[in-house]
Amino acid sequence: MRAGAGVPLADLQRVLGADGLFYPPVPTYDGAFVGGTIATNAAGPATFKYGSARRWVEALTIVLADGSILELHRGDITASPDGWLDLPLASGTPVRIPVPAYVMPDVAKLSAGYFARPGMDLIDLFIGSEGTLGFITDATLRVVPLPRRLVALITVASDARAVRLTAALRNKAESYPGATAALDVSAVEYMDSRSLALVPDEVFQRANVPRPLPDAGFLLAQIEVDGSGGESLEQLDEALTACAVDRDPDVALPGDDRGAARLFALREGVPSSVNARIAAVKARLQQDVEKTAGDMIVPFDRLEESLSLYRSTFERHGLEYAIWGHVSDGNMHPNVVPGSMDDVSRGRVALLEIARGIMAMGGAPLAEHGVGRSALKQQMLRDLYGDRGIEDMRAVKRALDPNWKFASGVLFPP
Ligand SMILES: Cc1cc2nc3c(=O)[nH]c(=O)nc-3n(C[C@H](O)[C@H](O)[C@H](O)COP(=O)(O)OP(=O)(O)OC[C@H]3O[C@@H](n4cnc5c(N)ncnc54)[C@H](O)[C@@H]3O)c2cc1C
Repeated sequence: MRAGAGVPLADLQRVLGADGLFYPPVPTYDGAFVGGTIATNAAGPATFKYGSARRWVEALTIVLADGSILELHRGDITASPDGWLDLPLASGTPVRIPVPAYVMPDVAKLSAGYFARPGMDLIDLFIGSEGTLGFITDATLRVVPLPRRLVALITVASDARAVRLTAALRNKAESYPGATAALDVSAVEYMDSRSLALVPDEVFQRANVPRPLPDAGFLLAQIEVDGSGGESLEQLDEALTACAVDRDPDVALPGDDRGAARLFALREGVPSSVNARIAAVKARLQQDVEKTAGDMIVPFDRLEESLSLYRSTFERHGLEYAIWGHVSDGNMHPNVVPGSMDDVSRGRVALLEIARGIMAMGGAPLAEHGVGRSALKQQMLRDLYGDRGIEDMRAVKRALDPNWKFASGVLFPP
C-alpha cells in the first residue's frame, strides 16, 4: 500500500479494511499519521506478533535538506564493511554517512535515536529518526489480510499473576510468521490495580464491566482466530486454569466489534483518567504540572523485576503512581499521578533512576514514543548510549543536514 505521509492511520485502516486488508503496527493512538509513525518507529499493542513500523516499511520518498528527493527502497543502499552509508545524490555530490558505533539493546521495540547496526540498510536510518534527517512525503507499506480476532478481558490478582499468565499466553502463541500455534496471541496489555482505581465508575458502567476487587488488575488479550474461535477459547481456558485464574474472562467474539470496542474503551479510560487528573491539577493549582511518565521496555524474562523496580522507586520518592502497558513485549508505562509541581520534579528524578535500572536489566527507557525535545528523554538517550553515542548521532545529522534545518533540538540539542 502506498500512502501519503499525511494520511491518518484511522483512514488508512478504513481504506485497507474495505479490501479485507490490515496494516499491523498501529499504535493505540490512531490519530497519528503515516509519516509520524514511521518517523518514530511507532509500534502498537500487537508488537508481540507483528513488530514495530520498521518491519513494515518497504520504501520511502524523502525530501532531504538540500531539497533533493530521495526514492529509497529497502535493499537499495546498505552500509559498507568499514561502516559507511554512501548516498549518491541527483545533484552529483555524494554524501557519506558514518554508521554509529553503539550497540542497540535487544528488545521487542525501540524508539531511541538513530538505528545503527553493521551492514544496515539506509532506509532504517530514516525510520525512527523523528524527522531530524529528512521529510518523509510518502511510504510503501506491507499489509496483511485483515485478521479475525477475539478480545478477552481477564482479571488478575497481582503483578506476579499477570506476568505468569502473559508468559503462558506467549508460550502458546506462534511467532509471526511461524508455524501453527496453539493460541495465536497478537497482544496482551496490562492495567494494574492503581490504574483501575483512577478510572471513574461511569467508564466501567459504559463498558459493562464490574469494577474488580481493589488489589486486582486487568489483562486485555487479543487473539487471532480462524473460525468461530471455539478452539482458541479452549486454549485460553487451559492457560487460565494453569495460572489459577478462577474468574471467567469477559470475551468479545470475532465479529463482535461493539463488544471489542467496549473493552478497548475501558483500556483507553486508563490514560484518559490520568490525563484528566493532571488537567484538573493544572486548572486548580499549578499551570506547569504535566504528564510525567516512562516508556520502559525490558527483555520479557526481566518483566516482573522491572515492575518491582517501578513500584519501589515511586514509593521511595513518596509518589502516587499507576502502571499500565504492553505487557506481552515487556513494555510498560509507569506514570506518576502528580498533585503538584513538586511531584513532577521528584517524578522526573524517579524516572531517571528507573531508566538506569532498566538499562542494567538489558532494557531501554525509550520503547515506542520517541525522544522529541523532552529534556528528560534526551537525558535518558544520553544515559543509554553515552556522550560518544550522541556524538555518533550528531555526525549522522551533520552529514545529511549540515545546517540543522530539520526538527532542530529533537533527539539532542543543536
Ligand atoms: C494517547 C496516545 C497513545 C499512544 N500510544 C502509542 C502506542 O501504543 N505505541 C506507539 O508507538 N506510540 C504511541 N503513541 C505515540 C504516538 O503514536 C507516536 O509518537 C506517533 O508516531 C506520533 O505520530 P504523529 O503523526 O502524531 O506525529 P507527530 O507527533 O506529529 O510527530 C512525531 C515526530 O515525527 C516527526 N514527523 C512527523 N511527520 C513526519 C514526516 N512526514 N517526515 C519526517 N518526520 C516526521 C516529527 O518531527 C516528530 O519529531 C501514543 C500517543 C498518544 C498521544
